[in-house]
Amino acid sequence: MATKGTTIAIIGAGFSGALLAVHLLDRCRQQDKILLVERNSQFGRGVAYATGNPHHLLNVRAGNMSAFPDQPDHFIRWLDSHAGTLGPCEPTGRDGFVPRRIYGSYIQDLIADRIWGCGKAMNLQLIHDSAVGLEPAPGGGFMMQVDGGRRYAVDAAVLALGNFPPGRDLVPSPAYAADPWAPGALEGIDRDATVMLIGTGLTAVDVVISLLDRGHRGPIHAISRRGLLPRAHAPVPAPLPSLDPATAPPQLSALLHAVRRAARQAEADLAAQGRGGGWRAVIDGLRPVTQSLWRGLDTTEQQRFLRHLRPWWDSHRHRMAPDVATRIGDARARGQLLVRAMRIRARHIDADRAAFDLVPRGGGPAERVIAARAVDCTGPGGNLAHTAEPVLAGLFRCGHIRADTLALGLDVDDDLRLIDAHGRADRRLAAVGPLTKGVFWESTAVPDIRNQVAALAAGLAAELMSNTQTEYVI
Ligand SMILES: Cc1cc2nc3c(=O)[nH]c(=O)nc-3n(C[C@H](O)[C@H](O)[C@H](O)COP(=O)(O)OP(=O)(O)OC[C@H]3O[C@@H](n4cnc5c(N)ncnc54)[C@H](O)[C@@H]3O)c2cc1C
Repeated sequence: MATKGTTIAIIGAGFSGALLAVHLLDRCRQQDKILLVERNSQFGRGVAYATGNPHHLLNVRAGNMSAFPDQPDHFIRWLDSHAGTLGPCEPTGRDGFVPRRIYGSYIQDLIADRIWGCGKAMNLQLIHDSAVGLEPAPGGGFMMQVDGGRRYAVDAAVLALGNFPPGRDLVPSPAYAADPWAPGALEGIDRDATVMLIGTGLTAVDVVISLLDRGHRGPIHAISRRGLLPRAHAPVPAPLPSLDPATAPPQLSALLHAVRRAARQAEADLAAQGRGGGWRAVIDGLRPVTQSLWRGLDTTEQQRFLRHLRPWWDSHRHRMAPDVATRIGDARARGQLLVRAMRIRARHIDADRAAFDLVPRGGGPAERVIAARAVDCTGPGGNLAHTAEPVLAGLFRCGHIRADTLALGLDVDDDLRLIDAHGRADRRLAAVGPLTKGVFWESTAVPDIRNQVAALAAGLAAELMSNTQTEYVI
């Protein structure tokens, strides 16, 4: 007699959710079903890879963007096999920085291949809708409800909701874009108008590139606490391991000291060869151990990192592709882009203008900037405990999930299973990707998420899609 099939819902089909579906399809039995739910029309792209702008480039080299940890050249091989079909900005080898929309096509192709190439069409149901409810069902599993009203009984669910937009629509005005990734965020800005960007990270960089591509000639102000722009990528030697999590100190100051020392040494070594940028090799060398180092810090030390070091970490770790850095540098050199360390003392936003009273960091006279559009570029939003996202709000309400201790996302265990208000992990409810940032810190980019996804798929398949599966009592 055939064993009953398992149904797993994946909510969100950006990189994380789409890749999880691919892994589960590779492992599922004939009778199993994956429901992949996405509110946007494009499955597999999410926020990062939906951009149609060919000048929005990946901030990671193509050679490190494979979707599969055990096949490091997978993306490079895919690019080679699609050469000549990818439109303008053809990629430039493994060290190149490919347009993000091409990466989205790669992920979409992985899903299409499972449907058309591997005969898994019957195991996958694409649901183009918003998941608005996920309630525990009697006898285990969940009842998932989508905005259109339909309800689906599932045995397990994975939240792959990704990056939340930075701002809440505190100021509903056409002069204020709370979501820099929303399609209309830059619509209708006069080319000579002043634009104000709140934030100076990669999101602000994206917005500047979009404005320049639209022929913007007016001044662009970008402000943040420290006024730090992301550094640029440059050719670097192989990543230099500088810290071993097994022996690393659990204090932030000692870690910082060790990293600075390693960076100084790397700079000196490279300078002796007539080269620069050795610090990049040290930062890259931290990548495989960052999660362990982060988890070795207690909450107080993690909070200190967020308060004092995060802007420096972000600007060194999340770097700009060289072509992007050149355009940003040119805009600064001609005085169009003004990047400054400023604090907002007051803001007055009405229907057609956004006025900001700014105070320079470290003191100095206040300044007023009046912009035709202000864009919130402060990076993905946190504190989900107050989210209006119905599926999360419902799970919080019934105590089925809780925020992580830093309120950056959701609390999960080592296996990505969500932890409820009483501290219990639910084997049938997991989260993946940026939602788990507070617990792992490095869980927001492809090289980290692909590891999470592979491990989660293996665990789910072993527990729920095997003929000898373990029964969990909920
Ligand atoms: C602008 C930008 C550029 C980036 N560039 C890079 C890069 O170059 N390299 C890199 O490694 N990383 C990059 N990242 C990091 C990025 O977080 C990851 O690479 C990855 O895209 C995260 O994917 P995700 O699926 O977890 O999240 P998302 O891409 O945010 O996808 C989540 C999806 O869930 C859907 N969703 C949410 N709630 C619901 C619901 N209730 N019902 C149905 N659907 C829902 C959303 O519509 C969305 O499509 C970038 C991030 C951003 C924001």
